[in-house]
Amino acid sequence: MNRPVLPGATIGVLGSGQLGRMLALEARRMGYRVHTLSPGVDTPTGQVADLEVNAEYDDLDAIRAFARGVDVVTFEFENVSTDAADAAAELVPVRPSGSALHITQQRSREKGFLADRGYPVTPFAKAQSLDELAVGLGAVGLPAIVKTAAFGYDGKGQHRIDRIEDADRVWGLIGHQEAIIERVVTFTHEISVIAARGLDGEFAHYGAVENLHRNHILDLTVAPARVSPELASEAVHLAHRVMDDLGYIGVLCVEFFVTSDGRVLVNEIAPRPHNSGHFTIDACVTSQFEQQVRAVCGLSLGDPTQVRPAAMVNLLGDLWVNGEPDWAAALAIPDVKLHLYGKSDPRVGRKMGHITALADTADEAAAKALAARDVLC
Ligand code: AMP
Repeated sequence: MNRPVLPGATIGVLGSGQLGRMLALEARRMGYRVHTLSPGVDTPTGQVADLEVNAEYDDLDAIRAFARGVDVVTFEFENVSTDAADAAAELVPVRPSGSALHITQQRSREKGFLADRGYPVTPFAKAQSLDELAVGLGAVGLPAIVKTAAFGYDGKGQHRIDRIEDADRVWGLIGHQEAIIERVVTFTHEISVIAARGLDGEFAHYGAVENLHRNHILDLTVAPARVSPELASEAVHLAHRVMDDLGYIGVLCVEFFVTSDGRVLVNEIAPRPHNSGHFTIDACVTSQFEQQVRAVCGLSLGDPTQVRPAAMVNLLGDLWVNGEPDWAAALAIPDVKLHLYGKSDPRVGRKMGHITALADTADEAAAKALAARDVLC
């Protein structure tokens, strides 16, 4: 079970978006075969994989058949049921494990896991009814953010409450489902740590990076984060602890708020490579995706050293409103790297690709990445 999965073997990926695509590109470069399973066809991952299987994630017979054709299974998408992970695990190693997935795919369980172990988190309460929502708002304090316990992403399923009278309306908006109530934190920075943990507990990280969001969607990542070395190493230390506590194998991202009084609070955990780690493809000796291949295949982790300061901007479907963006203009800027995900339908808010810019300082890289996006349209 613990023998390394070597090049030539097949990696199975549950999910088929851009994270699976970038994983597949790295895996294929290293000589692996890649199979992907999702309900979609001609998917970002499927386009670059050896095999694209079209099935629902809760079709356990399809998951078992998929697992029979691969040597190890991983995810690029955390909303896969633990039943699916368990079904695959009957046949091949599943990394990260179904239990790590179970905890991190649901806010309520994730918050409980963190709070029970004494991690610094935002003040929160759980609510399963309108009455509990009102009690929770009283306990947590206003303003608050109500988030569905089942994971949304990119701010989906989140509503701010400034006045207690809004509770009724927000309970309706989130569809009367289990929720987490969080006090709104006043933060100076949002940062994240991408890290990998191997089969034998080996740990590698990319330091703290800084994230700026627009409409709850990641807009810009600046690497390294422009925070003090003490805060950055505190965040790395917490990410390491989370991975050890989860017995985690693979790549994970922990997102943090840096509060105005200089504390680091864990916001959430993503049990997979993360959008804020895309800069590692162009700026680091080993990318987060190669690291995922190495970790889930039971190999030594690669050197995560960042060779140059970098910044990444997301390219959302909004950029296509006036037609195809001017790629040539962006690519004329030195040290600008374009990544497109092969999606044909550029809807507003949809992540279509990203640009990474390299420079001598993080500030310059951020300015260059933003300038490269500006010239697109
Ligand atoms: P999340 O999906 O929990 O990462 O939330 C998406 C974004 O909403 C975060 O990156 C923050 O910008 C904002 N946000 C979420 N929770 C809070 C909070 N408790 N206080 C302030 N801002 C928040």
